[in-house]
Amino acid sequence: MSTPGNPSERILVVGGGVIGATAALLLGQCGFQVTLLDASGAPDWSVDQPVGLRVAAISPGSAQILDAAGVWSAVTSARSCAYGRMQVQDGADGAALSFEAPLFGHERLGTIVENHLLGHCLWQALAHEPAVEIRAPARVTACTQTPAHISVTLEDGESLTADLLLACDGGASPLRTLLGVRGRVWDYNQRGLVGCVRHTRPNSGTAWQRFLPTGPLAFLPLADGRSSMVWTLPSQDAQALLAGSDEHLSERLNEVAGDFLGPVSELGPRAAFPLTMRLGEHSVVGRAVLLGDAAHVVHPLAGQGVNMGFADVAALVETLLEQRRQGRALSQSAALQRFAQARRSEVSLMAAGVHGLGLAFRADTISPLRSLGMRLVQSSWTLRDAFLQRAAGQGPNAPALARGVSLGELMAAR
Ligand SMILES: Cc1cc2nc3c(=O)[nH]c(=O)nc-3n(C[C@H](O)[C@H](O)[C@H](O)COP(=O)(O)OP(=O)(O)OC[C@H]3O[C@@H](n4cnc5c(N)ncnc54)[C@H](O)[C@@H]3O)c2cc1C
Repeated sequence: MSTPGNPSERILVVGGGVIGATAALLLGQCGFQVTLLDASGAPDWSVDQPVGLRVAAISPGSAQILDAAGVWSAVTSARSCAYGRMQVQDGADGAALSFEAPLFGHERLGTIVENHLLGHCLWQALAHEPAVEIRAPARVTACTQTPAHISVTLEDGESLTADLLLACDGGASPLRTLLGVRGRVWDYNQRGLVGCVRHTRPNSGTAWQRFLPTGPLAFLPLADGRSSMVWTLPSQDAQALLAGSDEHLSERLNEVAGDFLGPVSELGPRAAFPLTMRLGEHSVVGRAVLLGDAAHVVHPLAGQGVNMGFADVAALVETLLEQRRQGRALSQSAALQRFAQARRSEVSLMAAGVHGLGLAFRADTISPLRSLGMRLVQSSWTLRDAFLQRAAGQGPNAPALARGVSLGELMAAR
């Protein structure tokens, strides 16, 4: 294994959501000196609590990254649901696409995991990582850079200095503003209505999505046979359903969901999240690197948001290990710019694909064309395989950790 090029170099990770926590953990395991700052602290999760409202479909590539960090088995053994089948339907004319894992040589297509459980497992692992100092609750309110270092100021006035800063402070990223990063923002004027739903038949492992003219409705499988609903709706409709009765929501779901799993038999608590697309014009500013939602936010219809963030983290770990092997400063501009460019081309492609898909399914006028396209893809194994590879986060441009290379192998190779 390689040894630190300059062991005194310090990395500040701002934001301990799943992306910041994964970055801090992997970098600590590589022997970098890391300080993790988070405004809130460790997420609360226990198996006795009901299934959380926020879940994510973790791709096989992201699962490999979390496995490299040593947390994936804790996550899956606590509470999760691997799924092997995906169905996408056009609500307008019933055209459908389906993907079965074994048909494409995969063990599974993804795993549904509660955000809080993932955060909880990552913070538990961080507590045992001696190279990571945790400061929480600690809210960053200012950030300045000189040619020699980068500093942040906390709410209580304390200042911290580092060689490199990773901004992982989420979609509303205060650091993105403090660093002066602008970007393209698309407000969909939609909300994602989320909650747990039981149908008369159990969901035994299908991630199902139907595109309706108002936005997609998805049911993601949970371990107890229920589904986690993500229903994209115009903001006003989402607010009305959120405030309305269970009976009213059940009726609406039964109307639009067709015969997937039969009628709704039970609804849990629900919440609604505003949906936007945001692409920062830079993800590297001097000694600061933006990762995860701080760098890019996409519509959840393809379940790619957090998976793109995990790929950011894995690609950055590779870059920093290479810098260390070469005996170069971690903040060396050329290396960080190469990292940023490589990630930008992947992220832009995915964001454009997700955005375009959303628009295509909302346009009534192109319904026949869309239907033709879906039938074409369904009839082609090669096209569906290419789609799955990208969605799995394990395509040819994926970071080594996502393709199953272990952290030890990566460190030895560098
Ligand atoms: C309805 C919905 C469904 C989704 N489903 C999926 C899915 O199926 N698959 C998928 O891949 N993605 C999905 N996503 C996207 C996914 O939830 C996000 O991409 C992911 O949670 C972003 O993680 P993050 O760590 O970058 O940011 P966050 O989780 O927002 O974490 C940011 C952290 O920064 C901290 N922080 C903020 N400001 C400061 C400060 N000033 N100082 C210190 N700390 C600070 C906060 O305390 C927080 O811990 C979905 C999103 C929505 C809205």
